[in-house]
Amino acid sequence: MTQRLSLAPIAFLAITILAPSLLSQQRVIDDSVISERSNTAEWLAYGRTHSEQRFSPLRDINDTNVTNLKVDWYLDLPQDSGLVATPLVVEGVLYFVGQVNVIRAVNATTGTLLWEYDPKSGEAIGTKQKTGWFHNRGLSFYKGKLFAGTWDGRLIALDATKGELLWSARTFGLDEALYITGAPKAFKDKVVIGNGGTENGPSRGFITAYDIETGKEAWKFYIVPGNPADGFENKAMEMAAKTWTGEWWKHGGGGNPWHGLTYDAELDTLYVGTGNGSPWNRKIRSPEGGDNLFLSSIVALDPDTGEYQWHYQTTPGESWDFNSSMDIILADLTIKGEPIKAILHAPKNGFFYVIDRRTGKPISAEPFVATTWASHIDLTTGRPVEIPGARYETGSARVSPTPAGAHNWHAMSYNPITKLTYIPSIHMSVTYTDAGIDTKTWRSVPFQGGMGVSNKRYGPEPGKAYPASLQAWDPVKQQLAWAVPQDNYWNAGTLTTAGNLVFQGHANGHFLAYEAETGKTLWDTDLGLGISAPPITYKINGRQYVTLLVGFGGSVAGLGGAGELGWSYGIHMRRLIAFSLEGNATLPKQPAPFFPNPIDPPDFKINPDLARAGSQLYELCGYCHGGGARAGGMAPDLRASPIPLADALFDDVVRKGSRISRGMPSFANFSDQHLSALQHYIRSRARSTKPAEASAR
Ligand code: CA
Repeated sequence: MTQRLSLAPIAFLAITILAPSLLSQQRVIDDSVISERSNTAEWLAYGRTHSEQRFSPLRDINDTNVTNLKVDWYLDLPQDSGLVATPLVVEGVLYFVGQVNVIRAVNATTGTLLWEYDPKSGEAIGTKQKTGWFHNRGLSFYKGKLFAGTWDGRLIALDATKGELLWSARTFGLDEALYITGAPKAFKDKVVIGNGGTENGPSRGFITAYDIETGKEAWKFYIVPGNPADGFENKAMEMAAKTWTGEWWKHGGGGNPWHGLTYDAELDTLYVGTGNGSPWNRKIRSPEGGDNLFLSSIVALDPDTGEYQWHYQTTPGESWDFNSSMDIILADLTIKGEPIKAILHAPKNGFFYVIDRRTGKPISAEPFVATTWASHIDLTTGRPVEIPGARYETGSARVSPTPAGAHNWHAMSYNPITKLTYIPSIHMSVTYTDAGIDTKTWRSVPFQGGMGVSNKRYGPEPGKAYPASLQAWDPVKQQLAWAVPQDNYWNAGTLTTAGNLVFQGHANGHFLAYEAETGKTLWDTDLGLGISAPPITYKINGRQYVTLLVGFGGSVAGLGGAGELGWSYGIHMRRLIAFSLEGNATLPKQPAPFFPNPIDPPDFKINPDLARAGSQLYELCGYCHGGGARAGGMAPDLRASPIPLADALFDDVVRKGSRISRGMPSFANFSDQHLSALQHYIRSRARSTKPAEASAR
């Protein structure tokens, strides 16, 4: 009797603290709830609400007190490496996705783990090669279900309270050189997901909608037309085919929508930002020219049927990887006294677009970085006015921006109070050339590459001494309000609040708050590890939290393009960290930036022929382990790893797939000769880089 009495309050307490969501499952999170801007207790969608503004009306933390921001709680994530996702907060529970698509639910006020779901994406990838994209940008929540795309191409639905699988739909075959890194988008009892992969082989991009209850396919929209001899799927494809030449379908065409999905609940329209060409080089893809619809566009679709409504193409005849897959933000603007339902869009090509979302017509477009491929956008035609030579039609071309984009997937935000857009901007240029490529016979091979043009010698954009900046852009005036130059590129996405604040994490490990009106730095904390994920904010029990994932990630971390930062695999603790004004937690100190010391046994005789063959094979490995065997933090630096020196262990990892669950595919088709070639290449890199790097430190 006494026992039962004493147990009851404890059980009640446990439920209240650990699983607040269990207490209020009557509430249905649908489109009207996700659209509600005044709801500050939660962060229900990728960009907070359906508008994707990443603006919060919260002002408890503001420009007068942000200096007092402290760590409230943190969760160590020792199994993760690259963390790029936006968490969601629903009824006191924070959901996030980490490496190899592992999904976790934690108490949003304590960080206590509630459940974890591992979709076994590494195992599903199996022997699928050159798909080093095991990071993922986010989840979608709708009517009690959590939706996620997986690296290997599944769309899965989980019961959000228990973390149990409800259904799983395969969105493309394992033999297709495609992958998913993006967040799904759920609305109107459907959930849509796209895909990426043009760099990995021939592909024809598409977006698919599924029923949220059953996982049954509702509709599918291809971004580019297929072979006309097979018939067109719809009138839009018939129209698009008129803008293509040659036998484009043999190359796939591309257009893969890997990011930038926005549902407009006011106008009941879905906007899809579309990808670049497959291959990038139009001379190969569509040899007689043409705009190549719907590459590098925003396409508006009927959300119920997937039927085409309108499109606006930002880069006709795309030839530079200038996809238009970046964020599509919805905002109500007043331009020349007229109220405008606008789309704000800053794609890779360097122009900032304000588009009328009722018609798809551009209202204004101005460059926010140097755009040496086009002088301006002609608003009467809606088209860029290109600069001759930029298409490398007469030889190599030095072009700004680059395939990294003037702005990439790192989130931009819009503050309706300051009326400014906050863009993580990249200021770089690159040389494109297809010299040595026979554009008549070149063919992209699945998992072997799909560009058809080289992009080399990355450097600063003309007139800029720094590679990146945080830019506050006025979309009405179409001009820069302020900018903060940054020493490294690949900085994280932004969050802005009614507290006159903009938050951004940097590649160098600092997390900062800026005054939203002026760009003045108000708060700066060093988290000891590069940041790639954008912060979110929410208020529970009277306390405002600012929370983010910390773990340098994305393709630049994979390709090793930021190796000089010293964020190492297995050295620096990846974390989920929440800040508040009331916080009093202390973060364990991170190790200093670490530069792996290449192992160079003097008795290892490097065979130059094998090393050369290994350098070709290594291109598959470089997507995670870094170009030139110099890692950027997403995977181990092989020069410093003892595994390639131990034949049996190396075989276990490379061919037998012993690290498959961590995201290392099995290269089962490699011969003994292949393994040996890789070993010799890795040793040659270790030997040639060791002295230079040792003296540099
Ligand atoms: Ca691309």
